Amino acid sequence: MVKKLIATILALTLIFQLSACNTSKKTRYEAQFLKLFDTMTEIVAYTDTKEEFTNLSNLIYNNLKVYHELYDIYNDYPGVNNIKTINDNAGKKPVKVDKKIIDMLLLGKKESSRETSSFNIALGSVLKIWHQYREAGINNPESAALPPMADLKAAMQHTDTNKVIIDEKASTVYLEDPKMSLDVGGIAKGYATEQVAKIAMEHGYKSALLSVGGNVRAIGDKGVNNEQWNVGIQNPDKESKKESLCTINITDESVVTSGIYERYYTVNGKTYHHIIDPKTLMPSTYFKAVTIITRDSGMADIYCKLIFNVPYEQGLAYVRTLPDTEALWVLPDNTIKYSDHFQKYIKK
Ligand code: ADP
Ligand code: MG
Repeated sequence: MVKKLIATILALTLIFQLSACNTSKKTRYEAQFLKLFDTMTEIVAYTDTKEEFTNLSNLIYNNLKVYHELYDIYNDYPGVNNIKTINDNAGKKPVKVDKKIIDMLLLGKKESSRETSSFNIALGSVLKIWHQYREAGINNPESAALPPMADLKAAMQHTDTNKVIIDEKASTVYLEDPKMSLDVGGIAKGYATEQVAKIAMEHGYKSALLSVGGNVRAIGDKGVNNEQWNVGIQNPDKESKKESLCTINITDESVVTSGIYERYYTVNGKTYHHIIDPKTLMPSTYFKAVTIITRDSGMADIYCKLIFNVPYEQGLAYVRTLPDTEALWVLPDNTIKYSDHFQKYIKK
């Protein structure tokens, strides 16, 4: 749905905004593009010249595009073996892929393989069914239906990450189970954001704010007056007048949110969103949204899914084991819970 909309709106827009900055010679520039990862990418940076900013935004766009193609599960690209190619060859043969796929899948598999993991990169067979019913329900709301549990349970038999065979040496990935498929929607955006931020840093950029559909990664601080970057956390309560829950101050950190308000459909007046609890095979009902603050944007994306699918107490205990990581939970009744030191990030 989003894909179609975006395709019809525009291929690529770059909007440059100039705004005066009194205390420094640097100017704030902003670029947005609506083409990658089915979402809006935004870049903000304070630079001496417009040219410097244009170089930065081109660097980010060009690199993000490579990740976008490699991590796509729905589309083919000429001359590119991507996640879809791996899925198309499930049970047939190993597929030679770029190291960017190998590295992301190694991390994704490791995090999926935790005991009782609620995050699984090989949940494709189950997520595909939900995706199909969601698309049908959005297109024809009158006949919207839930997937039969028997179908979901049968699909769940094909989600064992031990059958994702990653050969680092040969740079190949093979899905041993012909009915298995990878769905990297829970990791790809955050992981790609992190890698692209690293590329920008390697090119000498010391401050920028990058947001790929809400996966926010700060490089340094603003680069003016030692100010930190400000990131608003969206209020998942659509009826509230407050658009954001709070504003977070970050330097060199990521802020990632997963919410039930992004992709969903309605069946008999009830909404069903897109984060599926592998234990129930249904959309997780513990929270409306979960936000993670940590340095690495890829890890933040994974942690979001991991704690979205477990009760608050369990998620809190888990977050406490993670260094320099904080979380915010919005419960179904809009109550907000924080991990021990989350509030130190909130702008007063
Ligand atoms: P987005 O940023 O696209 O709104 P999220 O970061 O919240 O999405 O991740 C949701 C996506 O993660 C789903 O669309 C699906 O592709 C994938 N996903 C859903 N449930 C799980 C799960 N239990 N484990 C891993 N990935 C999941
Ligand atoms: Mg996400």
